[in-house]
Amino acid sequence: MKELSQYDYLIVGSGLFGAVFAHEMQRRGRRCLVLERRAFPGGNVRSEEREGIHVHVYGAHIFHTNSKEVWQYVNQFADFNQFVNAPIANFRGELYHLPFNMNTFHAMWGVTTPAQAAAKIASQRAEITGEPRNLEEQAISLVGRDIYEKLIQGYTEKQWGRKCTELPAFIIKRLPVRYTYDNNYFQARYQGIPVGGYNRIIDGLLDGVEVRTGVDYLEARAAYEGVAERVVYTGALDAYFDFRLGRLAYRGLRFETERLEQENYQGVAVMNYTAREVPYTRIIEHKHFEFGRQPVTYVTREYPQEWQPGEEAYYPVNDARNQQLYAQYAELAAKERGLIIGGRLAKYRYYDMDQVIETALAAVRQELEG
Ligand code: FAD
Ligand code: UDP
Repeated sequence: MKELSQYDYLIVGSGLFGAVFAHEMQRRGRRCLVLERRAFPGGNVRSEEREGIHVHVYGAHIFHTNSKEVWQYVNQFADFNQFVNAPIANFRGELYHLPFNMNTFHAMWGVTTPAQAAAKIASQRAEITGEPRNLEEQAISLVGRDIYEKLIQGYTEKQWGRKCTELPAFIIKRLPVRYTYDNNYFQARYQGIPVGGYNRIIDGLLDGVEVRTGVDYLEARAAYEGVAERVVYTGALDAYFDFRLGRLAYRGLRFETERLEQENYQGVAVMNYTAREVPYTRIIEHKHFEFGRQPVTYVTREYPQEWQPGEEAYYPVNDARNQQLYAQYAELAAKERGLIIGGRLAKYRYYDMDQVIETALAAVRQELEG
């Protein structure tokens, strides 16, 4: 196709990775074409405006970073509000602050000082001897059995579809435990929600870039063969190679969004439901991300589920089989001429938004400087 054979980069996927890469290359005069299989660009940060409320359609997204470079980068496209994530855990009607901190310990045991809380946790931790061998043992050794049973066990088993005794310890290591009265979930230097929604950032990044939506590159591959010098691929890597070494596993999610004729449903943006018998893990009330005062509200229940091929892949499964399989695919990718892979799917890593931006900027530098 002569008319198409004029791009420097064919970029597959218009999520943050693809959009940042396209933006940076376009502004340096490189010719970019972005293909996106969904109807709209933006990947998982895409939101939809309903009655003045930005509904995060692919899950709640809270921007946080310690990188000044990334913070200044995103602030080119939108201002950020002062939202701080301070979720509440609901265990059968008992409410606790997250992440685990003095407010949680006070509500759980009535303790009022860090020394009392530490003593309580130390006494409950005594049941674990030696290195924790799984998530259950890791959790008990971090915060004790009471918190494990009320706030961790049910949530984690729903989220991952497996018993805590069969899950690796490291999943829980990223949960902060603090002996201060600090409910700020992310201890990041910069945090907030873009004023006007995440789409502002995507629109700014893709301004002037040629984007074709509704095109699945893997289905239309033949038509795009050779149209660009290089391909930047941000989709699933096993699919790129036609699953020739086997399928990578993912964890799926189902979102159920409801409009309610009331101003304020739960009083907080994120409420986690930590009991096993509640089928969803959390309820998001979108307006609270932006301090909305509309007379109606939108809430989304988030149900983890087994992932089936063909569905949206949300979380990589971090077990040995999948990590090994991914490493083999990554080797194939490294041998493919003119292929650059990046982002959450192609790297099979649970990256936060700031990490995706950082790695996209690094990929651009690598391209320009070699
Ligand atoms: P994606 O956003 O997945 O974009 C990839 C794009 O490629 C998609 O649009 C897809 O349709 C397209 N694509 C794939 N294959 C093809 C193909 N064959 N042809 C054409 N197009 C294709 N991060 C935070 O920092 N804070 C949070 O609070 C946070 N919350 C999250 C909550 C949930 C439920 C989830 C799932 C993620 C969350 N994240 C959060 C992570 C964040 O979504 C990612 O870091 C970021 O959006 C990833 O960008 P990406 O470009 O790598 O991937
Ligand atoms: N977790 C938990 N209870 C909670 C919230 C989180 O036990 O109320 C555990 C759970 O195992 C989860 C992990 O902590 O997989 C990481 O949670 P986080 O909220 O950081 O991850 P997310 O899934 O939102 O990216």
